[in-house]
Amino acid sequence: MRKKIVAGNWKMNKEFQDAEDLMFEIVDELTEKGSGDTEIIICPPAVYLEMSSDIAAENGFMVGAQNLSQFDSGAYTGEISASMLHSMGITHSILGHSERRTYFGETDKVIADKVDQALKHGMTPIYCCGEVLAERQAERHFDVVRNQVSEALFHLGKEAVSQCIIAYEPVWAIGTGVTASSAQAQEMHAFIRSLLTEKYGMEVSEEISILYGGSCNAKNAAELFANKDVDGGLIGGAALKAADFVAIVNSFQ
Ligand code: PEP
Repeated sequence: MRKKIVAGNWKMNKEFQDAEDLMFEIVDELTEKGSGDTEIIICPPAVYLEMSSDIAAENGFMVGAQNLSQFDSGAYTGEISASMLHSMGITHSILGHSERRTYFGETDKVIADKVDQALKHGMTPIYCCGEVLAERQAERHFDVVRNQVSEALFHLGKEAVSQCIIAYEPVWAIGTGVTASSAQAQEMHAFIRSLLTEKYGMEVSEEISILYGGSCNAKNAAELFANKDVDGGLIGGAALKAADFVAIVNSFQ
């Protein structure tokens, strides 16, 4: 059975006290409303990982990084390695987010190296893919996503790829208030799963959770998550409000 997962991407938001308050508000909401069998992963800014993972460990959810280095260790000023994160109990990392691709020039090759680093150190990559608006308008979205998925993941063997989570995040939907329709999300998720089936077989593809991301909120999550191939969400803006985030966590039927 595939895991249902809701991950929150806080991006570069909140100063320390506000971040800690938000963590405790999420804990309160979860205590009151529960979370069923949904796995929860919160990805705060790196400087708050320690504070967050201490709170998460006591309250049954997980914490992930938003990024990690493609290098093992050494003279890479400003970087944080997968082994450092793993040694602090950080279990997941978002990788290949469109903002990293756009503002920090991350290529599929660099992202593939980051995926390898995460897996080498026992972490779960949350690998993001998705087309920009012009690519969808030109009907190139399937080609774009096929290339992204194959270049970052298809060098992996069956066992390694089974450790990954994939997030389909159409770039035109991220932070815009424009959500992919339920049908568009299902269509792309089924396509990604078919790529995985073609490469690794059905046993593997049926085990990999594929999350939807892009203006997913407490109002539209249930419709998106009702789709057969949508196994949850990667949530940006709505993850910054505890009540909205926990409502999304509880949006599975
Ligand atoms: C994201 O940044 O991964 C994201 C999905 O953002 P938002 O929910 O704000 O569109």
